[in-house]
Amino acid sequence: MSRVFRLYGEFCATHPWEVIVAVITLTTCLLTVDQKQTDTDSHAKRSQPCPGCFEEQFKAVDVIVMTVIRCLAILYSSHQFRNLQKLGSKYILGIAGLFIVFSSFVFTSTVLNFLQIDLVDLKDALFFFLLLIDLSKAATLAQFALTASSQEEITSKIARGMSVLGPTITLDTVVETLVIGVGTLSGVHRLEMLSYFACLSVLVNYVIFMTFYPACLSLMLELSRISNFYGEKQPVVSKMLLEENEKANPAVQRVKLIMSIGLTAVHIHSRWFIKDDTTTDVSNNTNTDNTNCADDSSLYGFLMKQFALSADHIVILILVVTLIIKFVFFENDDHLKQQIETVVQTHDETTHVLRRQQRFAKSDSVNEEKEVQTINDEEIEDLEEPLLSRSLEECLQIYRSDGASKLTDREVVLLVDTKHIPSYNLEKAVNNQERGVKIRRQIIQISAKCEDAFLNLPYKHYDYSKVMGTCCENVIGYIPVPLGVAGPLLLDGKQYYIPMSTTEGCLIASTNRGCRAVEHCGIKSRIVADGMTRGPVVRFTSITKATEVVAWLEVTDNFSLVKENFDSTSRFAKLTRITTRLAGRYLFLRFVAETGDAMGMNMLSKGTEKALLAVQKRFPDMEILSLSGNFCTDKKPAAVNWIEGRGKSVVCEAIVSGDVVSSVLKSSTHVLVDLNTSKNMIGSAVAGSIGGFNAHAANIVTAIFIATGQDPAQNIASSNCITIMEPWGENGQDLYISCTMPSIEIGTVGGGTILPAQSACLDMLGVRGPNEDSPGANSKQLARIVCATVLVGELSLMAALATGHLVKSHLKYNRSYSEKDSCEKTDSQECCKT
Ligand code: NAP
Repeated sequence: MSRVFRLYGEFCATHPWEVIVAVITLTTCLLTVDQKQTDTDSHAKRSQPCPGCFEEQFKAVDVIVMTVIRCLAILYSSHQFRNLQKLGSKYILGIAGLFIVFSSFVFTSTVLNFLQIDLVDLKDALFFFLLLIDLSKAATLAQFALTASSQEEITSKIARGMSVLGPTITLDTVVETLVIGVGTLSGVHRLEMLSYFACLSVLVNYVIFMTFYPACLSLMLELSRISNFYGEKQPVVSKMLLEENEKANPAVQRVKLIMSIGLTAVHIHSRWFIKDDTTTDVSNNTNTDNTNCADDSSLYGFLMKQFALSADHIVILILVVTLIIKFVFFENDDHLKQQIETVVQTHDETTHVLRRQQRFAKSDSVNEEKEVQTINDEEIEDLEEPLLSRSLEECLQIYRSDGASKLTDREVVLLVDTKHIPSYNLEKAVNNQERGVKIRRQIIQISAKCEDAFLNLPYKHYDYSKVMGTCCENVIGYIPVPLGVAGPLLLDGKQYYIPMSTTEGCLIASTNRGCRAVEHCGIKSRIVADGMTRGPVVRFTSITKATEVVAWLEVTDNFSLVKENFDSTSRFAKLTRITTRLAGRYLFLRFVAETGDAMGMNMLSKGTEKALLAVQKRFPDMEILSLSGNFCTDKKPAAVNWIEGRGKSVVCEAIVSGDVVSSVLKSSTHVLVDLNTSKNMIGSAVAGSIGGFNAHAANIVTAIFIATGQDPAQNIASSNCITIMEPWGENGQDLYISCTMPSIEIGTVGGGTILPAQSACLDMLGVRGPNEDSPGANSKQLARIVCATVLVGELSLMAALATGHLVKSHLKYNRSYSEKDSCEKTDSQECCKT
């Protein structure tokens, strides 16, 4: 049923003018029904007082009832409009207003034309109409349409709205008509008339909602778009909640169906069988007035009279049918084709195709890797999963007894929306990490109104067990960052291929050139210090107390006590020293410890906390203000790391022959040394740099950090580096280069190093995980590799700067998508000058 209504809605939305013209033509056609053909006697008889009927006797009751109905109608209408106003869109108000005005017009015309009533009765009829009109459905369809972010989407949104609302409204209309229709069997003329009004009201409402309204909606939005409709702040509409709210409960639907079947039987029985009896009775009865009453209540006879067609009606009807056939079969072939396709594939699949087309349009070729980058077929299907079928209470009950794994995604979203499941806890609640991520995406898509944004954000095929509770919270997928490789890099006699993850074009190409420059001479490296730090801040009542503690810590036995406490927290963390600094009565303690193969921040925090408590036991008036007092210093630029070192302190050197300097680096030792002095020494000094006496160490550090699962924020201190270049050899043609990096915060266990892709990169370098034979050897080796790669990066960039190739190559590699042509066309000298 939904599918049929969806198709129908799509048709109305794509052929608005045609539908509007058809409805208006049909209305005009109905208005022109020649009432002379109808039985005027019947009307005359109806307007005469009927001795057998009771309306005269109940005149007072009638007045009261009608007054109540009028009041209710007015209140109900104002209530409906107030509700619409709450949605905060003048467009919805306008559209609903238009709906009500046009429906009233059609209704009035129909009543006047069919029932042949006088103006007093029409007034009652209008109030009935107002009482029975349901603006909420019209508003809901408008809301569906307004969730569209572009004109193209309006059609599919209206179609979707119709598919959701259509079946419910149709069934409601049938049930209402049948229930109210019982009143037309009462035999009481006044009640019968009111029941006819009500039935007509329901039917007109339905017809207008199903024809004129969606067409008009589509047209209005299209026209509004031209006048920048989308500038209006749209009401906050949750597509999913819209559907959930409007989707009828299947149990209620079933009851309605059974009711309508029963009522239809009652109507058939009353109108045909009883009519036959009545006719028989009437023929035997001498009371003609009573016969007239019975004739009037016969709907069949009444309708037959009303629908008697004259020649001009037939002509109009043929015209309407011709118009419809023309629009459907001979116009808009593309759409027709699409409709035929849709019938076969269903609308959901069409949406899928459209999205896929959008996705594929970005690239000529589609390959396996691309699939990982984008939303897949399955997920698109998931977004269109069946609507809610259970109430919130039912869902809650199931959640409490069996957990959220027994609920559908939409039901879980409902529980999150109603705060029964915290969004951060979704994975646990549904007992499935990927599903938890998927549901969170759906929630964000709706809240942030960014459905399409997720098309290119992958989440499948990822081992979330390694992420949750370790690396990331509130997960909605993963960001694929390109991974390149530079190398081989000859370091301490061994070749390494360096994984680098970056989006900066040129970087890996340049590093690769640097690797080529040292492929014969190689690089030597040394670890000169190893110690991760944590620097808490404590406070004393006076500087006397504070200095007392400083002195106490300098005593070997006391330090041993503190170390004992510190070391007891880990198998690998070993406290090596504590540096102290006073600032008034504030004392900053910098705990330094080796941390094996781990970067060690958590280990340091754990050990420091325990050690501090031991100190506090000895000095109870020591107030521990914070475990981190910024004297660590973690993830902030600070001289202390540059001077004292943090993590691994590494130094690397290489001697590049003059031939290589000129053949690979296209430069000369003299130029490079000169540039290094003016840029990396004098320039950095002028800039007041701390640890920034290099060309671009951070580039290499960050790319390797991302690839190998390090904490990328620690690139700040880790990139501290001084690059030194000197002429070497007898005639000074060769180039001596060294890089000193005192604070590489790095590890091969813990943090992001455990993630599959990152640990694969560590594997490439032969340093994955803990080194069982010599804890700490892997992380130290990784630090050496970082420093050596920085060295080759320095060589290459400095050479590029010296020869003026920097801008040219960056334009070539960074803007190949847009500026390649323009760069090629530009004189290379011009490029370099820029
Ligand atoms: P961790 O994963 O918290 O601790 C390392 C774990 O690995 C310890 O349980 C350690 O055992 C074990 N381990 C096994 N073999 C080891 C070996 N050979 N060497 C060293 N440890 C070994 O890692 P972490 O480096 O201390 O902390 C890294 C995490 O801290 C990252 O996720 C980072 O983002 C985060 N971080 C935290 C802070 C902070 O202030 N806490 C600051 C910055 C970053 P033991 O239990 O025996 O020690």
